[in-house]
Amino acid sequence: MRKILHIDMDAFYASVEQRDNPELRGKPVAVGGSRARGVVAAASYEARTFGVKSAMPSAIAARKCPELIFVRPRFEVYKSVSQQIREIFFAYTDLVEPLALDEAFLDVTENKQGITRATEIAREIRQRIFDETQLTASAGISINKFLAKVATDINKPNGQTLIHPSKVDAFTAHLEVERFFGVGKVTAEKLHRMGIHTGADLRKYSRPALVQMFGKSGSYYYHICRGIDDRPVRPDRIRKSVGAERTYSEDLAELSAQKSALKDIAEEVSKRMQKGSYQGKTITVKLRYSDFTTHTRSRSIDHFTDAEAEIYAIAIELLEAHPREQPFRLLGISVSNLDADRSSEGGQLTLDF
Ligand SMILES: [Mg+2]
Repeated sequence: MRKILHIDMDAFYASVEQRDNPELRGKPVAVGGSRARGVVAAASYEARTFGVKSAMPSAIAARKCPELIFVRPRFEVYKSVSQQIREIFFAYTDLVEPLALDEAFLDVTENKQGITRATEIAREIRQRIFDETQLTASAGISINKFLAKVATDINKPNGQTLIHPSKVDAFTAHLEVERFFGVGKVTAEKLHRMGIHTGADLRKYSRPALVQMFGKSGSYYYHICRGIDDRPVRPDRIRKSVGAERTYSEDLAELSAQKSALKDIAEEVSKRMQKGSYQGKTITVKLRYSDFTTHTRSRSIDHFTDAEAEIYAIAIELLEAHPREQPFRLLGISVSNLDADRSSEGGQLTLDF
């Protein structure tokens, strides 16, 4: 049986800003642009009590919390803190899979310190993070990535939660389907309409029935509602995105030509994704004008996809929203925010604990 930790810094960007500027401490802080088109990249816990969340448009955030203080992000600082916490992780294991600057999975089944209890490792790591950065982190501890990640949120901020192997069954039975990793808003609504609200509800369906209803994801749901997730912690998470781009010998001036070019590219991207069992949540278009200036525009959706029609539709939206002031010499689409494991390993899951 594996011992997996998920470590997540608490309100990371906002906490770094409060650490470095005492005047911000105890106050509602949003990291991000305050202008009409800005979005909140991170909100302090004080801001969250007003309903301010990350990814929320700044204008809405300011309405919810009139005293909200907007702070410009300082990514260089966040990156260097991120490096500091990774060094701490590496003192315990080399099996570290970063999910973001402030978040990582660690496989501590065999750890460099020879500590038996994963909860003790989590406590030590959080203490060292605090000692070295004056920032708090939360941790989830369990037998796989899915359960460790769900556990982290239970005692956040500055806490940790163990989902003991003996509690996995009861825990996943009671867990609401929207908390299952990879289930977005659309899928959750679909499940709710079928009367499926918890893991226990989901367990009533056979694997073939779930596959028929949800395609490849059905097999994943079948296992995950039983607390089964064999995805390894991947220190070498290779791919960040899947994409394709084309340079045109004659610049594309007409919208109709640009659209049909994007259609071909979307088809190619979708094929590549399906071949590698990749699905992603963020679609990016790359647009290069005839004068070589290049722009990228992205949109994220709430579920994983590899579907050509969906990728194409979003690419078109992004294209149409962009000023097309010159003909294009290059167009590209990529899909990132990937969940490669879920679909590719669904068939290999075993009951080995
Ligand atoms: Mg975090």
